[in-house]
Amino acid sequence: MQSIDNFNFAGKKAFVRVDFNVPLDENFNITDDTRIRAALPTLKKILADGGSVIIGSHLGRPKGVTDKYSLKHILKHVSELLGVDVQFANDCIGEEAGVKAAALQPGEALLLENLRFYAEEEGKPRGLAEDATDEEKKAAKKAVKESQKEFTKRLASYADCYVNDAFGTAHRAHASTALIADYFDADHKMFGYLMEKEVKAVEKVMNDITRPFTAIMGGSKVSSKIEIIENLLNKVDNLIITGGMTYTFTKAMGGKIGKSICEEDKLDLALDLMKKAKEKGVNLVLAVDAKIADDFSNDAKTAYADVDKIPDDWEGLDIGPKTIEIYADVIKKSKTILWNGPTGVFEFENFTDGSRAVGEAIVEATKNGAFSLVGGGDSVACVNKFGLASGVSYVSTGGGALLEAIEGKVLPGIAAIKGEPYK
Ligand code: AMP
Repeated sequence: MQSIDNFNFAGKKAFVRVDFNVPLDENFNITDDTRIRAALPTLKKILADGGSVIIGSHLGRPKGVTDKYSLKHILKHVSELLGVDVQFANDCIGEEAGVKAAALQPGEALLLENLRFYAEEEGKPRGLAEDATDEEKKAAKKAVKESQKEFTKRLASYADCYVNDAFGTAHRAHASTALIADYFDADHKMFGYLMEKEVKAVEKVMNDITRPFTAIMGGSKVSSKIEIIENLLNKVDNLIITGGMTYTFTKAMGGKIGKSICEEDKLDLALDLMKKAKEKGVNLVLAVDAKIADDFSNDAKTAYADVDKIPDDWEGLDIGPKTIEIYADVIKKSKTILWNGPTGVFEFENFTDGSRAVGEAIVEATKNGAFSLVGGGDSVACVNKFGLASGVSYVSTGGGALLEAIEGKVLPGIAAIKGEPYK
């Protein structure tokens, strides 16, 4: 496989798929430019080599050309961060884009308009009538798949090589994230630096495991994490199931959980997961006590209770001190750690103790040589909120993509670069 470090971009044009899907306020100011900064090492390396870049990205979920989602709003900031005057093409596949891409000189950059202004990027039909028949839906799908080929070919035609640095969309088989790779041979397609780091981190927790391996899965619902839990049961030594999911397990075992969050229809599933853990020799770690509240609010009255003896009008909003000790002990003895999801309602200041303690235990284990990966939405918010991000081995930037990777799914954005099947 080609690597960005070994590739000399001098005199070459690179199509770089980035994830510039940044949040904007009502005046189109970028409120968090982390994703743009994350792609800078890749873009700068290409320009420094004497190459030029054609940058492709999506922004938001437009259903057609929409000013609100135009990448022109971020052009100035990208130019400032990159340190070059980035040009802009108002239409990613129009004549202007072709002319500007062809005229690019070494060290120059061109940002294409939002790729998702075209249905072909995602390959999903748009504008179908609500009462469309199955036949009509099928025909529309076929049509967009056909035109997607032309769209992809057009994007590929701008460049000599393809670099994918958009881990956030690696789980999508879109034109610019996967299909485009077919237009370049193995020597001319590669991961960008960000993508390379993400892929390595995922590899380390999924395939190159130093034991003991502990996964901490939090979050509100078991139903949204079933596939991940099932896949992890084949990999981990310890599985801490925490957060709102706790109470479905406790209730399934006959405990009293008051008005804590619970998925009544998943009680059997919880028991089944416990059985599977036992069969596979996985140490399933559940909470023994909870910080309970008389209302779902930061200002609620609080107390501690055994997790299976929560009074009727109370609910568990975080783990209690005994559980913190148990979790911390398991985590500190681990050599590979994966954390996804808080132990409680960490958005409320009074229910952050458990998540903070988990983060701190991970930092300590990391200091002692463990590899720790934090990712998938809320746990990233947790480590940032508690100022612990620099103490863990890797904080993933890809929410959905990371979750699919730990579910064991093939990510099209990765497979396409490796030349492996993904459909
Ligand atoms: P998820 O989006 O499934 O990863 O879940 C994260 C959300 O779960 C966060 O917004 C937490 O506030 C919520 N959560 C964690 N613990 C609890 C709990 N005990 N009761 C209700 N919600 C919870």
